[in-house]
Amino acid sequence: MTNTLIERINKETGEVSTVKKYDWGEVEQQSLEQILTERFSLQGTVRTLLPTSSTAKCLRLTTGGNVSVQKSIEHKTCSYAGLQTCSSVWACPICSARISVRRRTETIQAMEKHQADEGRLYFITLTFPHSNTESLSFLKSAFASALKKLRSSYAYKTYKKEVGYVGLIRALEITYGFKNGWHPHCHEVVFAKNEKSFHSIKSLLFPAWKKACLASGLPAPSFRRGIDVKGGEKAGDYINKFGNELAMSHMKKARSERFTPFDLLRGYHHENDKQLGAKFVEYAKGMKGARQLYWTNGLKEKFGVDEKTDEELAAKTEDKHTFLGDIHMDRWRAVVSGKARATVLLISQKHGFENAKTLIESLWVRYVSSGKKHEDDLRMAKYKEKLLKRECKPKPPTQEEREAVVLKLQAVLNSNRLTDEKAKNRKEWISKSTQEWMDENMSNITNPFHGKKSYSTKFNL
Ligand SMILES: [Zn+2]
Repeated sequence: MTNTLIERINKETGEVSTVKKYDWGEVEQQSLEQILTERFSLQGTVRTLLPTSSTAKCLRLTTGGNVSVQKSIEHKTCSYAGLQTCSSVWACPICSARISVRRRTETIQAMEKHQADEGRLYFITLTFPHSNTESLSFLKSAFASALKKLRSSYAYKTYKKEVGYVGLIRALEITYGFKNGWHPHCHEVVFAKNEKSFHSIKSLLFPAWKKACLASGLPAPSFRRGIDVKGGEKAGDYINKFGNELAMSHMKKARSERFTPFDLLRGYHHENDKQLGAKFVEYAKGMKGARQLYWTNGLKEKFGVDEKTDEELAAKTEDKHTFLGDIHMDRWRAVVSGKARATVLLISQKHGFENAKTLIESLWVRYVSSGKKHEDDLRMAKYKEKLLKRECKPKPPTQEEREAVVLKLQAVLNSNRLTDEKAKNRKEWISKSTQEWMDENMSNITNPFHGKKSYSTKFNL
């Protein structure tokens, strides 16, 4: 991967900034403080845009007890424990950064192991033409269907055989442009055994990709843009970029350019551009629940990568850390209300937890004296009352409960249903008991025409 550091001077303000230049673009180098502060304030903006989402509660609500501050021994950075996390890779600036950094490590681990075993890596990008009249939900599902069709095509099977396919890691990405609308595309890091020319892979896959797009209701991709095949180096560049998107703030964009989702959020946050805000909401709602990163079955196991969900990664704190101190639940409310979540971490990190405590105490005084605590208390009491009322009301059964009842009934019906063996046993039992009854009750009855024991004592059903 090539990258160079360049210093830039803003002629108007005289401000000096450092820019890291990569093959794929430039990233303004921000300090850790700037990045952390921006992530927390961007998350606050997500809360105003999506007030009922789980991101609105992320790293605000406690898990029930006090909040603790801890410091990573390795990275010397501070983080919170005891708070709820939303683990949204699409909408949360904090969780998505946390998750992608960890996912990046896993991917690099697999790529390095594969290359050490003399395996080949390919970097394939798939996309299709689109316009700004198509909705995100349509494009997302049509794209997924086209990918599925491609994988089940004959050409794809031939390609797998020819490259000695081992597996792949696929990342789904969406960008937005005012001119062409939503742009879903995916990047695949393909783990293979054989060396093949990029052009031959592209020539083999393109007709199948075109057919899959058309069959899924999408326009035909062009040979030039529909598929891009590159080697392991490009994959490495991409993986290094992965999750770095959030660090690329202050990148002003012309409206004709492509916006990453967090560019949309930043546009709304910094410039109050309502159109960008609305697009971010559409994006966050449309992508909710979609998988960002996909590994083919068995690939993680092959490279010794643990299976971990996004929730586990978002909630995971640094493995080795020292405990700095606790923040009481009430004091935590003062920190949240004073918008000081990032500041408390930074002060703990740089000047120690004692100094952070002083800040928290002053925030607490302000919180109480400004009347905000009183307002919050009233709001919480109202909320609790509402919850209590809701609990008292008989609730209609949920879909899951209804399904459980149906399953239970089916189980009872099935258990009562006569199996062949049960029917046979029952038949034998009836036959036997009838025989016994007849022997017992009818054997002494005399037939007036034929003498004793006129009835047959043999009974068969
Ligand atoms: Zn979150």
